[in-house]
Order: sequence, then structure tokens, then C-alpha cells
Amino acid sequence: MTKMIYGVLGHPVGHSLSPAMQNAAFKEAGIDAEYGAYDIPPEGLSDFLSNLSHKGIAGLNVTIPHKIKTKEYVERHGMLDAFAKKLGAVNTIKVGEDGKLCGFNTDGPGFYRSLVEDLKFEPEGKTVFVLGSGGAATAVVMYLGNGPKKIFISDVDKEKTLALKTHYDGYYDRARMVIVDPSETEKSLSESDLLVNATPIGMKDGDPSPVSKDMLRRPLRVYDLVYNRPTTELVRDAVRLKLHAVTGLGMLLYQGAIAFEIWMGRPAPIAVMKKALKAALKNNE
Ligand code: NAP
Repeated sequence: MTKMIYGVLGHPVGHSLSPAMQNAAFKEAGIDAEYGAYDIPPEGLSDFLSNLSHKGIAGLNVTIPHKIKTKEYVERHGMLDAFAKKLGAVNTIKVGEDGKLCGFNTDGPGFYRSLVEDLKFEPEGKTVFVLGSGGAATAVVMYLGNGPKKIFISDVDKEKTLALKTHYDGYYDRARMVIVDPSETEKSLSESDLLVNATPIGMKDGDPSPVSKDMLRRPLRVYDLVYNRPTTELVRDAVRLKLHAVTGLGMLLYQGAIAFEIWMGRPAPIAVMKKALKAALKNNE
């Protein structure tokens, strides 16, 4: 049998941690496959996707900036799973034996699994505050759905917040999601059980916390989606205040683990993937 090929598709993809994580998983599971990186600019996307089975590619992860256009392509030429359709973005493709593409999104379920496993937090019936309303925030709230009692969203970009609420309201109970003006952050946070940072603040060296530490009070828990460094100022502040807090490494791990499970039809070797991810992250520093 020829070696199966998988990979991450993005632009750029040079610093992706997925090859290290997935190749470690394949090795651990005894699967004869290799996982590479495909740096494809937007103008080459359709061409690349139309030729996957000829290239021997059995599955892909899809990252920035291709998640939405890939969803549109797969919707026209293949099949979408229910959550990818609802979210409007694909981050995982499985190529069937007949060459047909199936599109999934594992960002939402990956976040949820990490929330439960790493932060020991069950969002059902709770109040969740999501800071930021871009792609990551959309995956989070569209997966949380009607689970939480209330979802506060806030972004410096008011149009984006409104677009996210309109999207959410199209599928879920509209009374559940409340837009928070940045000046009202403290009040809404005091009513929240969980803060999710879905802004890029924390990714760069020396970034401050996106939330003043005076606003962090028990029993708030903190999930910072930032994963490209061992910790962030937000997580540091929360930990100093003895709040439960994690970075987004767990979300990255579980979105990859769920992709592995979609491709291979068996449980992912989580411990090995986590170890590889941490090592790759250290290498990138
Ligand atoms: P994005 O599309 O750029 O969205 C971020 C949003 O946050 C933007 O609308 C931005 O507004 C807004 N923002 C910036 N500063 C803010 C502030 N102080 N208060 C409120 N809103 C603010 O980014 P994304 O793709 O959603 O990614 C967001 C974060 O999630 C990144 O750190 C990314 O690495 C992380 N992420 C993690 C995972 C994981 O697996 N752990 C997966 C996906 C993404 P402006 O555009 O006006 O600045």
C-alpha cells in the first residue's frame, strides 16, 4: 500500500505546530502516513483542492486564511458536516476513497473538549464572557450554542460583534447572547463564570492582558485561546489570583486529535500528541 499523505493547508504555514503533532500521532498509532505543510496563496486554493486525490492526499487541516473559502468549495464539490455548515468554516477535510471531499470543523469541539478536560468547566447553564468576535470567537459561541444560560460578547470592532450576534441568532435563542460595550466589561464579568479571550492580545512578547486584573474575581475561570507561548499576562494574572486558567494549547491539541479521529476512525493518542506539541512550541520560541 502506498503511504497516505496528510497536511496543513494555509498561507503562511511555516510555523504550524500541526506537522509535529500529527506525525507523532501516526508514529504512535503505527500508521504508515506522513503529514506535511502546504503553503498555498488564496488564488491557488481551488486548483489545489480540486486535485487532492491525484496528489495522494487523504486528509487536510485548513488554517488562516482559507477556512471560509474551503467551506464554500467543499459545499459545492463535496459534503459538509453539520457543525462546519453552521459555523461557515472548514478546518478539516477527509478525502473519501472515491475522491469526494468531506468538510468538518473541529475548532468548536476541540475548544469544548479542552474546556472540560483542562479547565474542568461544564458551560451548560453558566454565563460565559467572550472577548473578541473574529473567527475563533465564532467557533466557540457557535459550538456552545444554547448550552450556557447567557453569552456576553464584546469586541473593539462593533460591526464584527453585531455580525457574530446575527450569525448566532440565526441558529440559537437570541435572548441568550448579549453584546457588551467595552465600558460595561467589569459589570458583565462580575456576572460571568467563564472568560474566554478570543482576541490576539497575548500572542506577542510584552503584550498586556486584554482585561484589567481588578476585574478578575472568583469564581471566574479563564480560557485564553492564545497558544503560541507558554503563558500570557491574562493567565498569569488569573493564576496569581488563584483562579483556574489555561492557555489555548489544549484547544489546539483537541482540534488536532478530533481531526485524527475523523481520518483514522480510532481514538487519538492524546498524550503523545500533547508532548509533541509542547516540544514543537519550544522549538518555535
Ligand atoms: P481575529 O479574527 O483577528 O479576531 C479577533 C478580534 O478581537 C478582532 O475583531 C479584534 O478587533 C478584536 N480585538 C482586538 N483587541 C481587542 C480588545 N482589546 N478587546 C476586544 N476585542 C479586541 O482573530 P481569530 O482568528 O479569531 O483569533 C483570535 C485568537 O484566538 C488568536 O490569539 C488566535 O491565536 C487564537 N486561536 C486559538 C486557537 C486554538 O486552537 N487555541 C484556534 C484559533 C484561534 P480588530 O480586528 O479591530 O483588532
